[in-house]
Amino acid sequence: MNYMDNIITLKGIGDKTAKLFYKLNIYTLHDLLYHFPRDYEVYDTPVNLAIAPLDVPVTLRLTVTGNFVWKKIRSLTIGSGFAQDDTGKVSIVFFNVPYMKNIIKAGETYLMRGKLKKENNHWKLEHPKIFSEEEYSQKTGTMQPCYSLTAGLTNNTVIKAIRQAISAICEEEYLPAELIEKYQLVSRSCAIRDMHFPSDYEHMLLARRRLVFDEFFTFIISLRKLKEYNEDAVSSYPMIETAETLRLIESLPYKLTDAQMRVYHEVTDDLTSGKCMNRLIQGDVGSGKTILAFLALLTAITNGYQSALMAPTEILATQHYEQLRMLTAKYKLPFKPVLLTGSVSTANKKKIYTEIEAGTYNVIIGTHALIQENVIYNDLALVVTDEQHRFGVMQREIFSKKGDKAHVLVMSATPIPRTLAIILYGDLNISVVDELPANRLPIKNCVVGTDYRKKAYGFIMSEVAKGHQVYIICPMVEESELSGGLENVIDYTDKLKATLPESVRISYLHGKMRPAEKNRIMTAFSDRDIDILVSTTVIEVGINVPNATVMMVENAERFGLAQLHQLRGRIGRGDAQSYCIFVSGTDNTKSMDRLKILNHSNDGFYIAQEDLKMRGPGDLFGIRQSGDMNFKLADIYYDSKLLQEISQSVDDVLKEDRELCTSKYSGLKVHLEQNAVNFIDFKSI
Ligand code: ADP
Ligand code: MG
Repeated sequence: MNYMDNIITLKGIGDKTAKLFYKLNIYTLHDLLYHFPRDYEVYDTPVNLAIAPLDVPVTLRLTVTGNFVWKKIRSLTIGSGFAQDDTGKVSIVFFNVPYMKNIIKAGETYLMRGKLKKENNHWKLEHPKIFSEEEYSQKTGTMQPCYSLTAGLTNNTVIKAIRQAISAICEEEYLPAELIEKYQLVSRSCAIRDMHFPSDYEHMLLARRRLVFDEFFTFIISLRKLKEYNEDAVSSYPMIETAETLRLIESLPYKLTDAQMRVYHEVTDDLTSGKCMNRLIQGDVGSGKTILAFLALLTAITNGYQSALMAPTEILATQHYEQLRMLTAKYKLPFKPVLLTGSVSTANKKKIYTEIEAGTYNVIIGTHALIQENVIYNDLALVVTDEQHRFGVMQREIFSKKGDKAHVLVMSATPIPRTLAIILYGDLNISVVDELPANRLPIKNCVVGTDYRKKAYGFIMSEVAKGHQVYIICPMVEESELSGGLENVIDYTDKLKATLPESVRISYLHGKMRPAEKNRIMTAFSDRDIDILVSTTVIEVGINVPNATVMMVENAERFGLAQLHQLRGRIGRGDAQSYCIFVSGTDNTKSMDRLKILNHSNDGFYIAQEDLKMRGPGDLFGIRQSGDMNFKLADIYYDSKLLQEISQSVDDVLKEDRELCTSKYSGLKVHLEQNAVNFIDFKSI
């Protein structure tokens, strides 16, 4: 069997199952082998109720004390009953497993595995898995992989498929022996096997380290090549600084900060240098990067070219479009903007495509839709990407090639120190906006328990009375059997409406809503037609509503601290004092202490690092902080040390053999050619 074979070649996978895998973007054996577990389940020795820890998976040996009661509520079948061991009694609830009726019998003893909770001094076990003694003893002590699934596909099916693929495929080593030796790496085939089926935690860590090494190594070496390729390229779009941009800077209602002015000059110098610009603007949330993008777009269009701005979400793209239209009208700017996103109707899209190609518009704002094959531009001289860390390098390159190698400007708020930025954005020049507008007051933060909620609502009401607006963040969209008591947007909104006076305008927002609906809500919020917006983390990226002064995060313990830091960047964007309330759903002191890190620091990188330290290596899978930069396994915060070492080793390799033509690098060269199309576009991102 071959890496690129379709998964249908595996035993037991027919058309129907294959389609389920396709839904997860798994087509080939290669895709399958790189579908790593999102977590592992460790089946430990059963414990007594009295000593079982709360809120984490545990196994209990319990005897069912009576018959279960089965009810149907709407489409949900619920079974409830009691079980006990020598140390206590626990109530048990099952959701939507009608067959359990015939399995679970009064008087019998089972091993039950699930999260134990304590409510009003009563133990409760929701939706446990049930095992016989024999079944359980087989699993004891092992680490069972848990995969991301889709409806109809079971974890077991994935496990079987992966086991087959592993035994069918022989991974060849491509790194030279001296690198393997120097970094004490395990072999690739061993790494893939142990990532899926580790014999213990240590082996999983070693496997992960090897795979992270490869991921970073391929990434960095490709960036170096990309840099060589792009550096000093003569631009097809020479420009001059124009009076329009200077006029806009003069007319803005605020004065650009010194940092903004410096970056404006760096960008303008690039655009007018005669060479291709390749620049990253790095600046903390709220530092005012958008206006810098607009100024660059303005330079491009007043020089007679087309330009484009891409954002990772439809909400953010729409916001940029609206802001640009407003500026255009207010200051009589020569922009002719159009919005292009996935939710534009097919008929409309066709029309927009024709008009873009004809040059009817001079600035195109949108999402991934901007880099689709059928969009043809007209003298596209500048491409700007906002929140670049949400995109890959490949998308950046495709975007630039929509013009004749257009000037590239990307922006990011990922809080990383300069040393790491230089590695991760190795092919770009970096400008830093290291100053916030002078009118900003630092956000006031607090970490509280759920009993504080009533007080918090009182406070929220007082801010609403002042004409300010509020975000409330919940981890889930709707109630589900697996939500384990986490707050969800839909029920929360109902509860809140029942609690607060009718005059308060409350709406909700989440990622499963239709794009047009999301945009409608977001526009209403920025137009101040909504006072309180209950939302999932869809509002995390880029949204700018300076009148919002309070953010309350429910179940804050469920989020990585780096993510919470990003979230709170949605407030503190105007001149009023802003407040962030982190509500912890458990009063576990450890998770409270973790959240308190947010109280005393505003440095995103420091926060992410402290988070990792506090959680310890035991929670490797809970700590994936960011998913930034689109790495599959590597995490730029957790693996930052390894990242620096690898950068050094790439330097050494390229210094020794820039073209990788000696025999010891032949495997590496082939690997890069396969995984990095033309040595530049590469598959791993
Ligand atoms: P980010 O860097 O997070 O993308 P934005 O560009 O969205 O930040 O800017 C945040 C807010 O700050 C916007 O409302 C913007 O109008 C405002 N702003 C930008 N620059 C300045 C400045 N120099 N003085 C005051 N407000 C500014
Ligand atoms: Mg922004």
